[in-house]
Amino acid sequence: MVDKQPFYRESLRADCSSCAGLCCTALAFSASIDFAYDKAAGKPCKNLQGDFRCGIHGELLRSGFKGCVAFECYGAGQQVTQQTFGGKDWISHPEIAQMMFSTLPVMIELHEMLWYLMEAREMPCPEPLGQELQRQFTEIKRLSGLAADDLIAVDTTALRNTIRPLLAQAGMQMQKASKKSKASKDFRGKELMGAELKGANLVNADFTGAYLIAANCRMANFSKANFLGADLRDADISGADLTDSLFLTQQQVNAAIGDSRTKLPEHINRPSHWAKGQRNF
Ligand code: SF4
Repeated sequence: MVDKQPFYRESLRADCSSCAGLCCTALAFSASIDFAYDKAAGKPCKNLQGDFRCGIHGELLRSGFKGCVAFECYGAGQQVTQQTFGGKDWISHPEIAQMMFSTLPVMIELHEMLWYLMEAREMPCPEPLGQELQRQFTEIKRLSGLAADDLIAVDTTALRNTIRPLLAQAGMQMQKASKKSKASKDFRGKELMGAELKGANLVNADFTGAYLIAANCRMANFSKANFLGADLRDADISGADLTDSLFLTQQQVNAAIGDSRTKLPEHINRPSHWAKGQRNF
């Protein structure tokens, strides 16, 4: 049975109010332009409050934590807190802390795969590809509901290796079905850091695994362009059209620079920091 898409997609978005500050504790961060200091895995961030809220939420960009603004757990935080551990938290129940922290990275990977598979399932794929996408979606959804002991044993690398070619095939089918252009530019894995793509016609382009860091993509047309695993940090997509781009994620968009003219797919939220004109992201 196909899940009601908008409803299920909502469960693949971070809901920090239903999480026990897991990404701010379980994950390790190195001092960089994304995070202001070195933080070890399993150690609470110094800005995390006792109520699991961020003490500098409104000042993250100014304070050198722009990676936190871009980060998206795909709803893994609330899944681990509310489902895997039944609403318990690691402060009230220190005996489960380590297991909670070990579970989070696995859940993030599973939920990210579910995000991609949800989109791929809607593409016009011939059989048996369509059935296989549905089968993988159902299986990963089942895995995400396992108990913590079983979850940490899931081989997410093997799952990714299975799913990646399926997503690539689905993306190609989608582009083939597009009537907008027969041309398709292949930028897979390309280094396009700082590239000048302003106003470019990039219909059907394939940016799978490409590095578009700080590229100037203002006013570009990305119709049916495939962004699977592309790095869009600081890419300027102001005024660009990404309405029906493929495999775009909230994290990619959060990390890019956009404005009120940027056209996004329906399932991607417009980052609030764009409205504040915080361009030096
Ligand atoms: S700075 Fe705030 S959002 Fe980032 S890890 Fe620390 S507490 Fe979490």
